[in-house]
Amino acid sequence: MLIARNSKGKIIRLWNSSVEERQRWKREPFDCPACQQPVILKNGEIKRAHFAHVSNENCQVFSEGETEEHLAGKQIFAEWCAARKIKYEVESYLPKLEQRPDILLQGGITVEFQCSLLSIEKMSERTRSYQKHGYHVLWILGEKLHPRKKLTHLQTHFLYFDPNVGYYLWGMDVKRSQLILWFHIEETSDGRLFYQKKEWSFDTNLEIGDLQFPKIGKIVSRREYDLQIEYQKKRRWIGKRLYYKDKKMLAMQARLYQNHQHLLGLNKWFYFPVVEPFFLEASLLQLLIRLWEINGDTLFKEQNFLQSSLQLKQLLKTSRNLRRLPNCKQDQLIDYFVAEYLSFWKGRKRDGFFQDPLKGKLPKQVHLSRTPLRNMIR
Ligand SMILES: [Zn+2]
Repeated sequence: MLIARNSKGKIIRLWNSSVEERQRWKREPFDCPACQQPVILKNGEIKRAHFAHVSNENCQVFSEGETEEHLAGKQIFAEWCAARKIKYEVESYLPKLEQRPDILLQGGITVEFQCSLLSIEKMSERTRSYQKHGYHVLWILGEKLHPRKKLTHLQTHFLYFDPNVGYYLWGMDVKRSQLILWFHIEETSDGRLFYQKKEWSFDTNLEIGDLQFPKIGKIVSRREYDLQIEYQKKRRWIGKRLYYKDKKMLAMQARLYQNHQHLLGLNKWFYFPVVEPFFLEASLLQLLIRLWEINGDTLFKEQNFLQSSLQLKQLLKTSRNLRRLPNCKQDQLIDYFVAEYLSFWKGRKRDGFFQDPLKGKLPKQVHLSRTPLRNMIR
């Protein structure tokens, strides 16, 4: 904690204190504004000055064992607000919510600088509670949670979505005093992660409006997928999962077998789109097979595209395999995904990608994904 209450009931703030003040405070009694239990000032060599509970068993609000990264991040934020004349409070306790955002900003923005792992339940519950009380919560990820090879289950829950930048995540690098935005995030079934990155410096160019980024920012990013290569990769991935006797994959194969089909010999149409939607726990392939069971091969006829996409939307919305992303509106994610998918089908129909490749050599087809995704060229 960077704040505590002294014996006169005054809130003491550490980030703009002097060395002399901190020396004096080492001998004074303080308590925690949330749980009223005694806290002491720790002013050591490794971590910056902070308050810690004498006994940390009873405080629900202030988690202990704070890392230097977490303390530094809050301080950087506080100093940035002060320099920009932005109204802010550090660790301000909100009694109605029984929560204590790291920073509370003007306009009802709460900042949670998340440096350690926490349970998905806790993260979701906190987010919902903020939303219910009219706060917009900005989850900013510390180093441990920065995206690397593949998004973990926990990391996906911090995702935000906006039609202009796609899926995005916020992060912070305290050593370099930078705020980071990863956007246009996409992941393939076989676990390849793609993103674009933008950074702002707390010392120079970060402004309050940047925190509402998708509303004001204009970033266009393009990503190309070679459809022939992706087709091969997807089938290789399925083959591998079958080889290792992945339960879900075997269950799908068993269903197909009844219809004299094999997972690796399906219409090309089944192996797309290239990216998996983050709002689904299961693979999209499962839903596509379900769709095919309902419609049969008429599914691939152009005059049925619209109807098929409506069915897909219905299947998605009622699926038991939805992943609730607390920072996103689920209906928006599904509507958007299905609209994009429909336009993908139409494009492939035009360029003949789904035709039998044996009937003639196809030109190299490329699937473009870009932000803004609207007006996508296909
Ligand atoms: Zn406490």
